[in-house]
Amino acid sequence: MRLALLIVLLIAGPLVGAPPTPKSHFGHEIGADRTVLDWNRVVSYFQSLEKNSPRIRVQEIGKTAEGRPLIAATIAVPETLAKLDRYIEIQKRLADPRTVPAGDAESLISQGKTVVIITCSIHSTELASTHTAVEFAYRLLTEDKPRFRAILENTIFILAPSINPDGLDIVTEWYRKTLDTPYEGTAPPQLYHKYVGHDNNRDWYIHSQPETRAIISKLHNLWHPQIVYDVHQQQATASRIMAPPWLDPIEPNVDAILVQEMNMVGTGIAADLTAAGKTGVSVHSSYDFWTPARHYQAFHGGLRILTESASARLASPITIRREDLRVDGLGYNAQERTWNHIEPWTGGTWRLRDIIDYQLIAMESVLYQAAVRREDLLRNFYKVGQRQIDRKVPYAFYIPAKQADPGATRKLIDTLVAGMVEVEVESDGGHTIRMSQPYSGYAKALLEKQKYPDLRLYPGGPPKKPYDVTAHTLPLLMGVDVRTLTRPSAPPRVVAALSEKPGHLPASDSDSWMAVNRIWRLGGAVWRDTVTGDFSPSSLGPNWQAVKRPRIGLYKSFIPTMDEGWTRWLLERFGFEYSSLGNKDILAGGLRQRFDTVVFPDQTEASIRFGFKDGAMPPEYTGGLGPEGAAALKEFATAGGTLVFLNRSTSYAIDQLDVKARNVVRGVSDRDFYSPGSLLNVQLDRQHPLSYGLPADIPIWSEGSPAWETEEKTVARYPDSRILASGWLLGESVIAKRSALVDAQIGDGHVILFGMRPQYRAQSYLTFKLFFNALLYH
Ligand SMILES: [Zn+2]
Repeated sequence: MRLALLIVLLIAGPLVGAPPTPKSHFGHEIGADRTVLDWNRVVSYFQSLEKNSPRIRVQEIGKTAEGRPLIAATIAVPETLAKLDRYIEIQKRLADPRTVPAGDAESLISQGKTVVIITCSIHSTELASTHTAVEFAYRLLTEDKPRFRAILENTIFILAPSINPDGLDIVTEWYRKTLDTPYEGTAPPQLYHKYVGHDNNRDWYIHSQPETRAIISKLHNLWHPQIVYDVHQQQATASRIMAPPWLDPIEPNVDAILVQEMNMVGTGIAADLTAAGKTGVSVHSSYDFWTPARHYQAFHGGLRILTESASARLASPITIRREDLRVDGLGYNAQERTWNHIEPWTGGTWRLRDIIDYQLIAMESVLYQAAVRREDLLRNFYKVGQRQIDRKVPYAFYIPAKQADPGATRKLIDTLVAGMVEVEVESDGGHTIRMSQPYSGYAKALLEKQKYPDLRLYPGGPPKKPYDVTAHTLPLLMGVDVRTLTRPSAPPRVVAALSEKPGHLPASDSDSWMAVNRIWRLGGAVWRDTVTGDFSPSSLGPNWQAVKRPRIGLYKSFIPTMDEGWTRWLLERFGFEYSSLGNKDILAGGLRQRFDTVVFPDQTEASIRFGFKDGAMPPEYTGGLGPEGAAALKEFATAGGTLVFLNRSTSYAIDQLDVKARNVVRGVSDRDFYSPGSLLNVQLDRQHPLSYGLPADIPIWSEGSPAWETEEKTVARYPDSRILASGWLLGESVIAKRSALVDAQIGDGHVILFGMRPQYRAQSYLTFKLFFNALLYH
């Protein structure tokens, strides 16, 4: 026996220990009821896989917002891992057909591997996929079966076991803390990403967060993946798992070849799940394919594959009867047999382990399809690049050198360059983005105005709701003058080209506000022209006034709101000092002694007044501001403080602080008024200090935003027609001539109502200024 073992070891080649089983490392079976994983143990597990297998390499690709390591494992046969630089070169050339001499493409395609990235648990309460990643990696490295051999030989598989490890630990810690209490299985009362919470998968063109930046620069831009599979979870009562095809609308700049291939791979996943005996599989349900904020790769030659598995209560099992499954899923009914949900789940117990079992099949399916169709996928990847380069309309976009906001202009250019868009610098200092380049569709999507289709549930009926927002026009969001060229400006005057190098993302946010804050940080005073709003530290004339650094409080409820996180991000990014204010801080009163400005982010009136109801959370997290809180806020404003309310929270100001304004869209049905994340035109009162530094006509971000009939001072007003700037708007007459930004005087202070999100997802550089002006307004 011993001799036989020795011979086997000799034949098998150099000695590496057997990869440890997940159970031996974590101390329990993966997915056992009521068990969750710590990120540091996940990292050390992947490190021990690397130590004990020649088929895996583990790399730290960056740090999270809270400093945890982000890791990616590269898995393939050892011969492939030995030549990764060569495969990166092949991918790079196929991605840019201009670099491939005629006749060379087929040779590159025959040599290449399909590159597949799988990213897990970006949404941290959707925690199953990190467990699945651990078990799948172990099996792929240790089980010898034909499908796994095909995967290892034909693909380069890059596995990120969590792309939001901070959130994974937040959820794990909360889950353990609440085990065996009435709150077991609840979501934690805080955002599961330091700044952006669930919106971390809405960051994929602006790249504001460190996780996004690391994954784009170290994985996407380096590897040019053919497939990126992002693993998610949905409601417990939805289908057991959902895969593409996507619902309409598909963003018009996404190449048709990629859409067909996403349909193909998605239905392939569904077929493999059904063949394995899994029921409740839906396709062509739930998600449209519009905003590039969720899918960078689909504008860079790659497929976006996503699955959504039904959730349990984190790691605690649940029981669901068939009649409790949702009947109103978008595009399907979870109780009924239809072509796209052919075998409904019949109900029963549903647990973490079930989710993992489905996801294991889905991961294997994606990779096996990538292996079997390697040549087609690579050839089509190359063709998509060719079709981008062949784009003739428009010829180019041109960004003149002279701009109202040079900082925002640099930010726009940097955003494009970070997405591998080629930008040429002209001799006059302007910038040109020609469409004959591999990622012209990406540039075009971000620079043009969106015309979202008028989709209705039935003719003349209510709108079919987009899954997310409908506008992403950066020149409007950032207030940058960008022009469309239909033909070359003669003669060509290009003096330099900007391009993104893998592993590096440029960054520049600075504008006059960065300078203002630098001066404050150094203890100096800032002067502002009271007519134009321009800042100057030195030149003083009759119109200049000193501007003190404001003491800012930002309301933070126990009901986590992403807008609160985005606001924190903005304040920190631009150097404002602030304190987070919980219910207790406001209820304590005396706010005016400590603050000049108090900001309420976009959240519902009820969440501010009542917070979590009794019994929904441990007692220390329940309750809201109540009548005492409203009294404290009134006292603050009366004594000269400024209260700033953003979007939905304005209802609180009107109902609880007696601001005289009537929201004309309140109670109006979607059929009559609808602005689901759109850019809308308003006209500013340029004499008002909130408008300093802005042009008279600007687009603002409206997301179900209020508009008012009011006797208070109106700073921004909708015009009487042509209100839509980009995206989708129904019922413009409802808001025509109504107010979108209001300044109400209370005693010596002010209450500012923003009928918009002026700091929308780190993108709306133009209206950041309205918000900053509000912080200084007294
Ligand atoms: Zn999700």
